[in-house]
Amino acid sequence: MDAGEAQLDSIGALRRTHAAGEIRSEHVGQRVVLGGWIQRRRDHGGVVFVDLRDRGGLVQVVFKPDSSPECHARAGQLRSEYVVLVCGTVAPRSDETVNPKLPTGEVEVIADEIRLLNRATPAPFAIEAETDADESTRLRHRIHDLRRPPLQRALRLRHELYQATRASLAERDFLEIETPMLARSTPEGARDFLVPSRLQPGEFYALPQSPQIMKQLLMVAGFDRYFQIVRCFRDEDQRADRQLEFTQVDLEMSFVGVEDVLEVLEAVTVAGCAVSGVELPRPFPRMGYREAMDRFGCDRPDTRVQLELVDLSDAFAESGFRAFRSVVDAGGIVKCLPIHDADALSRGQIDKLESLVRKELGGKGLAWIRVDAEGGWQSPIAKFLSDAERAAIAERTDARPGSLIFFQADEPVRANAILSRLRLDLGERLGRVDGREWDVLFIEDFPLFEADDQGRPTYVHQPFVAPHDDDLELLESDPWRVRGTHYDVVLNGVELGSGSLRNHRSDLQRRIFELIGYSKQESEERFGFLLEALDAGAPPHGGFAFGFDRWAMVLAGASSLRDVIAFPKTQRGQDLLMDAPSEVSAGQLEELSLRVRRPRREG
Ligand code: ASP
Repeated sequence: MDAGEAQLDSIGALRRTHAAGEIRSEHVGQRVVLGGWIQRRRDHGGVVFVDLRDRGGLVQVVFKPDSSPECHARAGQLRSEYVVLVCGTVAPRSDETVNPKLPTGEVEVIADEIRLLNRATPAPFAIEAETDADESTRLRHRIHDLRRPPLQRALRLRHELYQATRASLAERDFLEIETPMLARSTPEGARDFLVPSRLQPGEFYALPQSPQIMKQLLMVAGFDRYFQIVRCFRDEDQRADRQLEFTQVDLEMSFVGVEDVLEVLEAVTVAGCAVSGVELPRPFPRMGYREAMDRFGCDRPDTRVQLELVDLSDAFAESGFRAFRSVVDAGGIVKCLPIHDADALSRGQIDKLESLVRKELGGKGLAWIRVDAEGGWQSPIAKFLSDAERAAIAERTDARPGSLIFFQADEPVRANAILSRLRLDLGERLGRVDGREWDVLFIEDFPLFEADDQGRPTYVHQPFVAPHDDDLELLESDPWRVRGTHYDVVLNGVELGSGSLRNHRSDLQRRIFELIGYSKQESEERFGFLLEALDAGAPPHGGFAFGFDRWAMVLAGASSLRDVIAFPKTQRGQDLLMDAPSEVSAGQLEELSLRVRRPRREG
C-alpha cells in the first residue's frame, strides 16, 4: 500500500506508560505503551526495526511477522517522523546487537500493537545531532530543528536555569513581580521598538529595553526585593550574540550597598551554573575595570588565556617614529601583545592576521617584531626604532629568542579591541590557556562617565547609576574621574550581566542628568515621574540583570544565542518560520491612524 494512504488511528483510551528514552534493562518483561516519532525504519529479512523517538531519547522497536502479523504489516507503512503509539514487551537484546552508544541500547521493545496517529511530510534535513543544513533552512524549518537532540537538550537546560534562578531568588525573599510590556521609552542606549496606540492616535508605547525604571519604582513602593525573568527589546543592529528580544533575570534590592548585591549575585550565579554541574570557585575573584582594560584590553576578560597586553604609549611620546608618535600626540595609545615561544606562527599566518585586523577589525594595520634564535629583530618597523625604544620594548615585554610582539597604535577603544581579539584567538590557537574549565569574575570600579562622539560625558552603563560615595566631590571638580557603583559578572569571557546602586536622591540624579547634557526641561519631560518617585521617599537601592540567553548559551556550550532560544530571529531581525515582520492590512493601519511611506524598491 502507498504510505500516503496509510490509515490513521485514533488515540482512543490508549495512554503512554513510559517515555521511549527511559526504557532500560530493569523494564525487561514489562508491557509498555510508548508514543513518539519514527526516527528510522529498517527492514531486515522480514523483521522491521523502528527507532522511536520522544523527548527523552530513542528506543528500538521490533515488529516480527510471525508473532504479530497484523502489527508487522502496518509497520511497513511507517515513514520518518510519523507519529505513533506502540504497545509491546521489553526484551533484552542479544549480546551482538547491544548498542553501547544508546542509553536504551541493551533492550528493545517487541511490538504487538501499533496506532498510527499522524503522517508527516518528509523532514527537510535529518533529525540528528549534527546537521549541515544552513542557518536559514534551520530557522525556516524550526520545528524540525527543535526536534534535534542538541536543541532539545539546550531548551531543557534553559528550563532548569529558570527554575534554579527563580528558586534561589525566592529563597532569598525576592518577590516575582511583572512590569508592563507596553511602556514608555527608557534609556538603555538602544533604539526603542514602538507600538502605536489606537486609543490615543499619534501616540506610541515603547517596548521596555529593560524594566529598569519600573523596578526602581517598586523599591520606592516598598517591595524591598524584586525579581522578574523578563523579555526586553532593543532595536539594535544584530551581532552574533544579540537578539532584538532577549530575556533578563532582573532584580533589585533596597537598603543595600554594593557588597550586599554582590553576595546575592554570587549565590544566584553559583545556583544557576550548578544546573550544568558547574562548580564555581567562591568567593568570585574581582578585578577593577582599569586593570582589566590595561592587562586584557576588554572589560570582560577570559583570564584563562595566559597572554597579556603591554602599554608602551609613554615610550613613544617623544618618538621619531611618526606612525606611533602621531597617535600618542592625538590622545591614542601604543600597546602590544607579546607572545613567547611563538615559532609556530608562520609569516603567512602573520600576514593573515594583518588582513583580519585591516579588513574585519577596522585597524590600520598590524606591526610586529619577531626575535630570532640569535636575538635579532625581524620586523617591518624595527628600523624606525631608537635604541631607547628598543630597550623599552625588550624590557617591558620580556622579549627573548622566539618572541613575537604584535603592536597597535590607535585610539584606545580600537587598539584595545583589536589586541583583545588577537589575544583570545592566538591564546586559544597556541594553547596558552590554563586548565580551568570555568572562569568567573566580578568587574568593578567602572568610570561613571565616558566620552561620547563629541567628547562630552555620557553614561557608561545607564543614567541612574550612583557614583561611588568617595568620589562625590569629584562630580564637581573632575567628573571624568568619578567611579560608578557599577559591577559586572563575567563568565568565560562573556558578560553575564550588569548592575549598580542607583541614585535614590533626586538632587544627585538631577545633577547627573545635567552632567550628561540633559537640560532641566528634558530631564523633567523624560524622567519627571522617576524624579517625583525619588522624592516620595526612595530608599537606597541597587540591583542587577543577568542576560539569561547568554548565560544559557555559555552553559550549553553553544556558539550562538539562536541555539538556546526556541524561536529566534535571524541577523536581519526576521522570524523565518512565521514570516515576521510582515505587512498589515490597510484596515489595521487605518485604525491606528498610521500611513506607511514605503521605501522605494531598488531596481
Ligand atoms: N537595567 C540594566 C540593564 O538592562 C541592568 C541593571 O542595572 O539592573 O542593563
